[in-house]
Amino acid sequence: MQTFSIAIHGGAGTLIKGMMTPELEAKYKSDLKTALDAGYQFLKEGKSAVEAVAESVRLLEDSPLFNAGKGSVFTAEGTHEMDAAIMDGKTLNAGAVSLITGIKNPVSLSRDVMEKSEHVFLAGEGAMQFANELNYKLEEIDYFYDEFRYQQWQEIKDSDSFQLDHSAKKDSKFGTVGAVACDQHGNIAAATSTGGMTNKNWGRVGDSPMIGAGNYANNKTCAVSCTGSGEFFIRGVVAYDVSCLMEHKNLSLEEASNEVINKRILEINGDGGLIAVDAKGNIAMPFNTEGMYRACKSSTGKEEISIYK
Ligand code: ASP
Repeated sequence: MQTFSIAIHGGAGTLIKGMMTPELEAKYKSDLKTALDAGYQFLKEGKSAVEAVAESVRLLEDSPLFNAGKGSVFTAEGTHEMDAAIMDGKTLNAGAVSLITGIKNPVSLSRDVMEKSEHVFLAGEGAMQFANELNYKLEEIDYFYDEFRYQQWQEIKDSDSFQLDHSAKKDSKFGTVGAVACDQHGNIAAATSTGGMTNKNWGRVGDSPMIGAGNYANNKTCAVSCTGSGEFFIRGVVAYDVSCLMEHKNLSLEEASNEVINKRILEINGDGGLIAVDAKGNIAMPFNTEGMYRACKSSTGKEEISIYK
């Protein structure tokens, strides 16, 4: 029988063991497990990889611990602007949204762009009009509020700096969420969702909603979801680069993912990580930071929920 598997992440960054209370660490692991198990259950029931990644990411968005959906970081204006993308490796169909506000589950809107529009990428007001036509209910700003994120913003709000999310060092904190899956038919998919960077300005968009940069899926090679300093991941076209190394250089999933995260992206000073699966159900989860919230589960019995190196 075809191996089916799923991997999820909740962001990479300076996650140093001992910096977090045991209670908070347990909470992170429990929210990761909830999202992992839900996606895995979908795969077990025979649902598609697209359905599984959408479900896992939806649950991660609902957790205030991660920088996506509820708990998204604050922009320079004190609002939340969210980005998300999804891609189906079987058809190469994709959907993405950026700079959206008030939408509880950005990943669902990206999936609607993929399935219900003729387009791939909708941004800002136009994306909001599309959501309105599909009768999306808008959440009040309070829904997205998280005290920790608010304090992060307060620390830098009167400066020109902007910062990534999650952890000790101010310049290396990422909290984006993502999922990749291989279903019982050997079809793969990837989804990614983020609030972006604290204090971001000028309609800044990172790699997460960009097909090929932060998110990509192709049955021929791999499904990838990234987290890290988005500007570098865009310049490195990271997710597609993993796919290219597999397709054109015949590297395995593990080799291609490592080459990109531990070599190519480091050469341009990019930090972060990614999760990836191939159509045989193999999983890779490399990162070049101290930690990455991550979890995976496969029908072979493999299961892991980890934070640190
Ligand atoms: N890659 C995301 C961005 O630059 C941040 C993250 O991974 O947390 O928007």
